[in-house]
Amino acid sequence: MKKYIVSFFALITLYTSKAQTLSPEAFLGYKIGTKFTRHHQIVDYFKTIAAANSQTTKLEQYGTTNEGRELYLAFVSSKENMERLDQIKMNNRTYASLTKGRVAPLLPNPPAIVWLSYNVHGNEPASSEAAMLTLYELTNNSRQDIKEWLQHTVVIIDPCLNPDGRDRYVNWYNTTVGKNGNADAQTREHFEAYPQGRTNHYNFDLNRDWAWQTQTESKFRIKKYLEWMPQVHVDFHEQGYNEPYFFAPAAEPFHEIITPWQRNFQTQTGKNHSKYFDANGWLYFTKQIFDLFYPSYGDTYPSYNGSIGMTYEQGGIRAGLTVQTNSGDTLTLLDRITHHFTTSLSTIEVASKNSKQLVDEFAKYFSDNTFNGKNSTYKTYILTSDDANKIAAVKDLLDANGIVYGQTNNKGIGYNYASNKDENIVVKKYSIAVSVFQARGAMATVLLEPKSKLSDSATYDITAWSLFYVYGVDGYAIKEKMDIDEIKTTSKVTAVSSDYGVIIPYTSLNCSKLLAELLKNNVKVRYASKPFTVDGFNYPQGTLIVLKTGNTNINWNKMVNDAAVKYNVQPVAVSSGFVQKGSDFGSADVRLIAAPKVALLSGEQTTATNAGESWCFFDNELEYPVSLINAADVWRLDFKKYDVIIMPEGNYRGLNDKQNMDKLKEFVKGGGRLIAIQGAVNLLAQNGDFGIKNKADKEDEKDADSNYNYLKKYGNREREDLPTNIPGAIYRVELDNTHPLAYGYPNTYYTLKQDANIYEFMKEGWNVGILKKDNYVAGFSGFQVKNKLKDGTLFGVYEMGNGSVIFLADNPLFRLFWENGKMLFSNAVFMVGQ
Ligand SMILES: [Zn+2]
Repeated sequence: MKKYIVSFFALITLYTSKAQTLSPEAFLGYKIGTKFTRHHQIVDYFKTIAAANSQTTKLEQYGTTNEGRELYLAFVSSKENMERLDQIKMNNRTYASLTKGRVAPLLPNPPAIVWLSYNVHGNEPASSEAAMLTLYELTNNSRQDIKEWLQHTVVIIDPCLNPDGRDRYVNWYNTTVGKNGNADAQTREHFEAYPQGRTNHYNFDLNRDWAWQTQTESKFRIKKYLEWMPQVHVDFHEQGYNEPYFFAPAAEPFHEIITPWQRNFQTQTGKNHSKYFDANGWLYFTKQIFDLFYPSYGDTYPSYNGSIGMTYEQGGIRAGLTVQTNSGDTLTLLDRITHHFTTSLSTIEVASKNSKQLVDEFAKYFSDNTFNGKNSTYKTYILTSDDANKIAAVKDLLDANGIVYGQTNNKGIGYNYASNKDENIVVKKYSIAVSVFQARGAMATVLLEPKSKLSDSATYDITAWSLFYVYGVDGYAIKEKMDIDEIKTTSKVTAVSSDYGVIIPYTSLNCSKLLAELLKNNVKVRYASKPFTVDGFNYPQGTLIVLKTGNTNINWNKMVNDAAVKYNVQPVAVSSGFVQKGSDFGSADVRLIAAPKVALLSGEQTTATNAGESWCFFDNELEYPVSLINAADVWRLDFKKYDVIIMPEGNYRGLNDKQNMDKLKEFVKGGGRLIAIQGAVNLLAQNGDFGIKNKADKEDEKDADSNYNYLKKYGNREREDLPTNIPGAIYRVELDNTHPLAYGYPNTYYTLKQDANIYEFMKEGWNVGILKKDNYVAGFSGFQVKNKLKDGTLFGVYEMGNGSVIFLADNPLFRLFWENGKMLFSNAVFMVGQ
């Protein structure tokens, strides 16, 4: 019996040693490419392989998604490298000038770090399948060449950046497909259901979120990324299934801060891939469409952090398991996986064969940044505001990107972002200074420079994002290097006690959040609709007032203090409602804010990303309840349950029905507030009854010269719509901050303009945010668009009966990164129409 047990264990040992080479097929029970693998199965496969190959593979959970799925990184290298993995990391950080004080001696011939990111867009699912094959190939010990590569590289595999989106796609597909995939492109399995799997839980595009990190997946991942700082980073995607494969080098425009070495190695990598693609007769293209400019992608963000950052695109969106393409070929999931698998290995190969040069150039890149402030016209940036929380918000973003800042007492001349001129530097109450003489100086430059230079205007995304405008702070770009000291600790909020009431300033998004918190907890809050003076202090319109009156049955004073600490806003105690100047607290000019019941139109007929921004903002920033109602069902629902209805972009089919339109108007006339965002404003303008009218495209005053601009050249056909193109540029909006929609703002606001829509000045409504002439600030804006975008309204309020319609023609919540727009949206929800 004993003997039998021993041999039984021997058998198990034999099996587990074989388990080291357990293929995806052996683990999953089906051949890769014949089914889509659910995320938990991918995780289980990685766990199994890592456990069986502990000397060469390590798995680390780095986070969890909104829906509770685990985020993992796998580290794969030679046994020798894995034994000194921590040392390799420290060594790499030393090269990146990121270690402080005493540093470990540099390793001789350190390996290059190659980071492979799969499946950031959930419905581009071939890449996570390829990740399993890649892990298998790296660990199964069957290839001598791979063993050699792993002596010169540490490979970091993120098998799925967006598990919630992936499973949304995979579960949908698996419920839709029959016994076999159908290559007929007209079958339902090729038309994905709303909201599709591309985005994460809140319908954010995670490949637009690297720098801003508004989403939980990005926050977790970038923290790890900035720890490791790989020499090479690849972001695996899929594009329309008729397209051939795309790999590096990327298309123009490249941001000018990308170095010749980074460009060269992109080309070298592409040439290595082409060997394999040519040998197999697979088509590919390079240098077109996918550019390197907007800083929040999986290729640019690594590039601005010293890496060779690349996007690979397989044709495959909507392809399912199999599809017939335009060229008459059948494209299978296995084809798509094989191509991504091939470029995965080829990337590791080319990095390993050039590991010394990769590491040397990487070290040089960071020493150029840290000690020479290279590639940056401006050497120092000062950001300043009278509001501590606005500066704190900038600090949070800089921290999230590992950018160091401090403060400076130096004065002199700088480029003033508000006036667009070189002027004497004048700082406000709070300020920080950022020097480009630091490891992440390139990233700092990209985020802070006044105008990013475009080498070509045909780009894929927005072209302006300077943090001064995004955060609504003042500041300067300075050509000189300045001494920067560590920042002094900022003052804390102190609790106040009053038997009468408190004043709460209303100057930043934090104040909107504080207001939301008080309303949510049934505290009665008022706002002053006119400026007033108490104890010698002037308070502008919009200032919040909480009185004992009406709040006697709750511990209002404590609730105000708690919320004030949470949101870092200093309240002021008052003992009387009698003010020195302005209207007393009992006046009709001081208005009670009724806590609104808010509905958000969502689901089919709304743009998923646009509805998702509002949803995420209510859930995670305002922390205020919102009812998501399906736009398709909305006409059957009881509007009386809500005070505010938010209408994101969409193609609301019910709006064509007069009965539905009347119901919407009745809601507003009865005291409701309708908030229309971007495209939805256009829809209401077309209806004609909402007091707003689209400004027509005006024929330009044509002189002979400008006529030439319209002549088309066949060779330029891909660029012919550039004159009417505005991928995302910054314009200065003049605000009427006496209107509740603009409370808390100065009289200007910088908007991210993404379309050519502008509206006639409303004769019957309030034109709260308008463009005059010459309000263009930065970014690409085609000449026809520039001609049109002037003398019109972008933000306005039209009163109908007892309610109002609020027009936000530019989306202030775009990707939730345009921080300074969020208060405008909050005002629309809480302040307007009270
Ligand atoms: Zn993609």
